[in-house]
Amino acid sequence: MRESGTVEETSRPAARLDIVIVGAGFAGLYMLHRARALGLSVRVFEAAGDVGGTWYWNRYPGARCDVESMEYSYQFDEALQQEWRWSERFATQPEILRYANHVADRFDLRKDIQFDTRVVGATYDEPMWRVRTDKGEEVSAQFLVMATGCLSCANRPEIKGLDSFAGPVYHTGEWPHEEPDFAGKRVGVIGTGSSAIQSIPILAERARMLTVFQRTANYTVPAKNAPLDPDFVARIKADYPAFRARNSLQINAFGSNLPRSSIPARELSPAERRAALEARWEYGGLFFLGAFGDLLLDQAANDEAAEFVRERIRGSVKDPGVARLLSPGQIIGCKRLCVDTGYYATFNRPNVRLVDISASGIDEITPQGVRVNGASHELDALVFATGFDAMTGTLLRIDIRGRDGKTLQDAWRAGPRTYLGLSVAGFPNLFLITGPGSPSVLTNMIVSIEQHVNWIADCIAYLGQHGRATIEAQPAAQEAWVEHVGAVADRTLYPMCNSWYVGANIPGKTRVFMPLLGFPPYVEKCDEVAAKGYEGFECR
Ligand code: FAD
Ligand code: NAP
Repeated sequence: MRESGTVEETSRPAARLDIVIVGAGFAGLYMLHRARALGLSVRVFEAAGDVGGTWYWNRYPGARCDVESMEYSYQFDEALQQEWRWSERFATQPEILRYANHVADRFDLRKDIQFDTRVVGATYDEPMWRVRTDKGEEVSAQFLVMATGCLSCANRPEIKGLDSFAGPVYHTGEWPHEEPDFAGKRVGVIGTGSSAIQSIPILAERARMLTVFQRTANYTVPAKNAPLDPDFVARIKADYPAFRARNSLQINAFGSNLPRSSIPARELSPAERRAALEARWEYGGLFFLGAFGDLLLDQAANDEAAEFVRERIRGSVKDPGVARLLSPGQIIGCKRLCVDTGYYATFNRPNVRLVDISASGIDEITPQGVRVNGASHELDALVFATGFDAMTGTLLRIDIRGRDGKTLQDAWRAGPRTYLGLSVAGFPNLFLITGPGSPSVLTNMIVSIEQHVNWIADCIAYLGQHGRATIEAQPAAQEAWVEHVGAVADRTLYPMCNSWYVGANIPGKTRVFMPLLGFPPYVEKCDEVAAKGYEGFECR
């Protein structure tokens, strides 16, 4: 593992490279590995001080994954997946970060990664990309791969008076390396999404008083986390590739141990529906959404699952008024479902207070705390669990200019437009990993990352073998793809909530459902495009 704060020796920069990769999370690390295997000269730029991406930045108490650890890992190397040992059903952030470091060490990746370096701009200067960093450096490369993550641009809402707050202010997505000491403190948390729901039970144990400011109540299901059973692990490792293959056939690329039911709710009796929901609640985790085949397609099916969770909230939270406030009204699953350990019961603690800001928002932040509806809530520390400018925010912060100087900001003014979520018309040789228009955030993301990296590496190899220097999405193929992504979403209940999937969490962001639902047909389409000589692309 790299010493924090030191600058690792990098192999000497070549002014002209074959490929520049931005980001050293799971996407950037694997892209680097594949690029090297192709014999390409490569450089990775990473804004953070070390590898890990999400798991480097999100160090807040309670951070862990909600895809099971036997699945949330790379599959490209059989020896790697055999040797790594996860300790719990859902791995913690420190354990996932250790895994990312293990991968970087095992494949000797660090020597091509330049840490503490942010890419600020990239201009296509035919036939090369000129890439600029915040260190004033410029390199050029034939290919530019954005492995910049979908949830890597922290959303820090502008709230009146924020700068005046006298105590420390934290964001879950940029948590300090030295754990803050909340003992004896009055702590405020803004937000009730996944990050808040994971951290609130732990913050409540550490703080003298915890005040939670809730704009929208969220659904969360119990994780039922536990140490991993060695027999279960051995069964999977006995044929890991077959397990991976079964998962890849799931709509979200995970969860073949308890697949989504194919039976619509209306074909089940009330008792059968109840039993299905109870079984999945007891099993724990995101599997709950698979109780009915049409849970995210049919309002009545969804209502029944939502009411089931509200009933559980009423059963857990002693104060009926607090239970009512914690009960969400929206469609379950169309904002990302949260997975928790002890969230609702935390509100029974005498040192935890829930403040409803749904109607009025926050009036202002003062040196002493937060004012809501004229009432002051005095605080010593403030935690923003307000999420991310998801999927597009990180990319749009970089000054990316394609053919004829056209900026990505201009190209995406009406929302992100991509072909396959991998490529943007007018931006030759630029690749996005898990970009908008691909299944990305609706899947086990490591699976989607590997699928994209493999596709990109194969594409670059193809271009070399066929004497082509550039590949670029054709505008007509892109338009058809954007329409397809929208049409798939419109057949579901997903677009109906104010979620970050549609950009509703960021004021002024164009409302577009950004990810594509359905991993298996997407993979089929990507493979077909490649098999047809990169159909829908111009290769020159
Ligand atoms: P990231 O891990 O986000 O890495 C991107 C990297 O790019 C970052 O290190 C960033 O610093 C760097 N970067 C960005 N812009 C620049 C720039 N301009 N210059 C230089 N460097 C730059 N997914 C799941 O499938 N299952 C889960 O259970 C799950 N849990 C999650 C929990 C949390 C708290 C969060 C925030 C996300 C979670 N995710 C989960 C999604 C997670 O982001 C992905 O699983 C995965 O880690 C993404 O990897 P990545 O390499 O694509 O992006
Ligand atoms: P999030 O889901 O976007 O939640 C942000 C919260 O902040 C919401 O409750 C939101 O309220 C609130 N908020 C935003 N702006 C606000 C404002 N101006 N004033 C008051 N409240 C505001 O963000 P997140 O919790 O960081 O999670 C983001 C994603 O990361 C997740 O959906 C998931 O994909 C991933 N993640 C996964 C895990 C895991 O369990 N594996 C854990 C953490 C994160 P509204 O709902 O009203 O907008």
